[in-house]
Amino acid sequence: MPNSQIENRPVRVRFAPSPTGDLHVGNIRTALFDWAYARHTGGTFIFRIEDTDRERVTDEYIQAAIDTLKWLGLTWDEGPEVGGAHGPYLQSQRLDIYAEWAAKFLSDGFAYHCYCSAEELEAVREAQRKANVAPGYNGHCRSLTEEQVASFLAEGRKPVVRMRMPEGSTTFTDLIRGEVTFDHNFVPDFVLVRADGSPLYTLAVAVDDVMMKVTHVLRGEDLLSSTPRQIRVYQAMGLSENEYPLFAHLPFVMGQDNAKLSKRNGEVSIAWYRERGFLPEAICNYLALLGWSPGEDREDVTMKELTELFTVERVHSSPARFDMKKLEAINGDKIRALTPDAFLEKALPFLTDAHILKGSSDEIALLKKALPIIQERVATLAEIPAMLKFLFVEKFEVEPDSLAKVSDAESKNLLKVAHERLEKLSEWNHAAIEGALRSALIEELGLKPRIAFSAVRIAVTGSHISPPLFESMELLGRESSLSRIKGLI
Ligand code: GLU
Repeated sequence: MPNSQIENRPVRVRFAPSPTGDLHVGNIRTALFDWAYARHTGGTFIFRIEDTDRERVTDEYIQAAIDTLKWLGLTWDEGPEVGGAHGPYLQSQRLDIYAEWAAKFLSDGFAYHCYCSAEELEAVREAQRKANVAPGYNGHCRSLTEEQVASFLAEGRKPVVRMRMPEGSTTFTDLIRGEVTFDHNFVPDFVLVRADGSPLYTLAVAVDDVMMKVTHVLRGEDLLSSTPRQIRVYQAMGLSENEYPLFAHLPFVMGQDNAKLSKRNGEVSIAWYRERGFLPEAICNYLALLGWSPGEDREDVTMKELTELFTVERVHSSPARFDMKKLEAINGDKIRALTPDAFLEKALPFLTDAHILKGSSDEIALLKKALPIIQERVATLAEIPAMLKFLFVEKFEVEPDSLAKVSDAESKNLLKVAHERLEKLSEWNHAAIEGALRSALIEELGLKPRIAFSAVRIAVTGSHISPPLFESMELLGRESSLSRIKGLI
């Protein structure tokens, strides 16, 4: 049992993004599984920022990543803002650590200085392409003589540090995929440190996983092929096989069209979903189903259940498919599950951002009455402003495409009849309004409900899409409802 030592250690998992933009669906699915695994096992969830490429990973993106994790409720035990015993948790603050290890690998013979120029490397690649052999470094600088080194230095060349891959292969047990083997013919010697002294991902990630005592690496399948390199770094650091972290490579997330997830088929930033009124609990619930399942065909999972039920054994190895419709359906369910107060709190910013509410107490009182009639009907919070606008506008206007639907003589006539009848109502509530309109338009004029009510809907709400008509009219009030109908006639 080569992994026994790690298995007996308290679980430590890390989410280690390199935020070169806002975090995406794929990143967050990884973060969620890392978090869920840590919580399920009572272990530690580490959040590490892999920002050695400071040109692409900016402070702004790092802050956005921190905010996104917080918003989703994926709280971490060690990492930015909270610190921890194994920090710092920003790789840009750990450069001296990587430099020390690289120096040790050089002196121990695991790594060597490589003086090849970019042009020389490109020439090697070109020759490999022509000869149809696997691309990769050809080992040119593996055993340079002192004279060769001296002449490269005299030319002013600055070396990179390159890891020596021994002949043979690397085999490890992936917790999701089972035994995986990489033939080193396809894992050429790789760069650890650039000529300017900056570390590369493979060095930093492996050093940190060891130094931070990470026991489980749950991450995307795209990183599977970097595992043999990382294992080589562990070996150079003196770890034996039963001390390596355990790997679990999560399945790819594909778009609806089976193509790799991209902007076109769903891979947009979590900030984008947030702006469009998706709830964090809906995003987490949905992403949890991308590659994992709670069993029994269930699709509704709370964060608490996720932490109770999440095991790596239940993660599939086949790709998951991102389905926007399903995410919307789950979001709608989570919206319906909100308490009235919570729904109000979530809806408010969308209404103020759309300049529909100014914030007076009258408006809030009206909003409190209006929200229950739409809570069942919205899939995202961003749909709310358009639905409730008619209640709050100062200058009422009918939308042009809706107006076109009621410009005929028949509509005009039915609105006249509706107006006459509604004017006579002694009480203004949705039941009375419904009774009056049904008897006038359906029974007496013999119209189809869809046609009759649609015209009234357009007249009072300005749109052919609105919350339930009779409730909307009750909320809008007698005076406004009647004057809007009259206005349209
Ligand atoms: N920083 C890497 C990335 O964002 C992930 C590192 C890892 O999980 O091993 O692609």
